[in-house]
Amino acid sequence: MAFEIKERDLLARIGRLETKSGTVETPLLFPVINPTIQLIPPRKIQENFGCQALISNAYILKQRFKTQPIEKGLHDFLDFNGVIMTDSGAYQILVYGDIETTPEEIIKYQEQIDTDIATILDWPTGWKVSRKHAEHTVDQTLERAKKLFKTKTRKDILWVGPIQGGRHLDLIAKSAHEMAKLPFQIHALGSPTEVMEHYRFDLLVDMIMTAKMNLPIEKPLHLFGAGHPIMFSLATALGCDLFDSAAYAIYARNNRYMTEYGTSRLKELNYLPCACPKCSKITLKEVKEMEPKEKQAFIAEHNLYTCQAELKRIKQAIKKGRLWEHLEMRAHGHPTLLQALKRLKKYEKFIEEHSPAAKKSGIFFFTSIGLVRPEIVRYRKKLAERYSPSHEARILLLAPQTRIKPLHKSREFKETAKLLRRTFKERLNEIHICFYTAPFGLVPIELDEVYPLSQHETAFPPDKETREYVTKQIADYINNTKYEIIVLLHDPENWGKEVLDTCRKTCLRKNMKFEYFNMKEERSKIIRASLKETLQKALSEQH
Ligand SMILES: [Zn+2]
Repeated sequence: MAFEIKERDLLARIGRLETKSGTVETPLLFPVINPTIQLIPPRKIQENFGCQALISNAYILKQRFKTQPIEKGLHDFLDFNGVIMTDSGAYQILVYGDIETTPEEIIKYQEQIDTDIATILDWPTGWKVSRKHAEHTVDQTLERAKKLFKTKTRKDILWVGPIQGGRHLDLIAKSAHEMAKLPFQIHALGSPTEVMEHYRFDLLVDMIMTAKMNLPIEKPLHLFGAGHPIMFSLATALGCDLFDSAAYAIYARNNRYMTEYGTSRLKELNYLPCACPKCSKITLKEVKEMEPKEKQAFIAEHNLYTCQAELKRIKQAIKKGRLWEHLEMRAHGHPTLLQALKRLKKYEKFIEEHSPAAKKSGIFFFTSIGLVRPEIVRYRKKLAERYSPSHEARILLLAPQTRIKPLHKSREFKETAKLLRRTFKERLNEIHICFYTAPFGLVPIELDEVYPLSQHETAFPPDKETREYVTKQIADYINNTKYEIIVLLHDPENWGKEVLDTCRKTCLRKNMKFEYFNMKEERSKIIRASLKETLQKALSEQH
């Protein structure tokens, strides 16, 4: 197996990809090297930027340098001893319509130059194309993919099987499903560059997820042309392991300065908002006064540092189980990224099923966008499918969450619990205590120490959508259980009237008794006395 997964968070993973020129850690960025117009020499990319891998274009190499890379070997030719991936010229088909080579020639050439990771000459779908054309690109790519296994002669090169289909999700599904049957070591999602240029990150989510759901999940996935650090965390969270970036250099040519939260034109900046080795040694004024070529090289180097730094932050976040928090922070870098994050709702089930169950850290819940987090989806599923309260429990006592966790250890609650123990002793099992909490909804007291029900931080009061989610969880729970009476400790400060109204309505519909105490209207001592009376009455009525 060429790819080994070491650590996971959401669909992201830290992996080890084995190639004949060494093992690299993923998520991994391949800076694009164009030997004809290269701003940073490959050796420098390796030594100064810690890049273990790069990508070049086999078609361009073949057209411009003919047999030179064959004679010297690609590693010597580029002066780079890390891992080299080659693309096939497919992008040139997209730009120029056709190219002067054949799929077989490109396979053979990549073997001859001794690349480590090779790509078949696929047929990119592109952005604004008819369905018919999109279908054609999928079929052509598949046909060429099948041919690879009859043509290739070497066994030590990893081959990439690109998925096409463009914005036609059913075609991506078909393409991925068919390509998955072939023994590629790596898959790639083809031509999302234009989707990203149009800031359609929501569509990118659909494309990646469709591919992911139809490919073997354990295989590495490359996202072609995804070279801006602003979206690395999104793509990684969806299970993309490999990226290539021509953008670091292309942006530099237009004086565009990358940051992990967006792009600025150099002339718009007042400061260099970066601490990379380039930016920390120079003033903005000095950069602006540079000769164009020198300026471009400076920005390209800064851009590459920025990309590498963001990937390190992402890897650290995966290790700590904090990728969601990182993702949510980055999503606020652009409105369309935030929109894309909301799109994950559509895939919450799949993401939950393939996310690790245990984590090292608690979760930060910021807003209702976080309701699609696997921890929350998983808890909802488990509560609905696997939990039922003791059949002796006839009274459901609903208590609000407090800042203290586990919830049953808060001072207010301890007082109530003491009263219940003292008063009801042997009938205590007839009273079932559950907390209502953001973001999890309803938490039975016996579960409140189970991860992550006490290992999370939330600000109060929760936002409207979160309150709606929680009240729905309460209603679902009441509807699916068989208590005789619901008693609510109503907390209007944090929950408005929503929990109260929901409980009242649901009980009315089920023809159940409902009582509540407004915790803000009376002192807790008085509430406890009334609660005692209500519970005593309820218990005596029923027996
Ligand atoms: Zn910098």
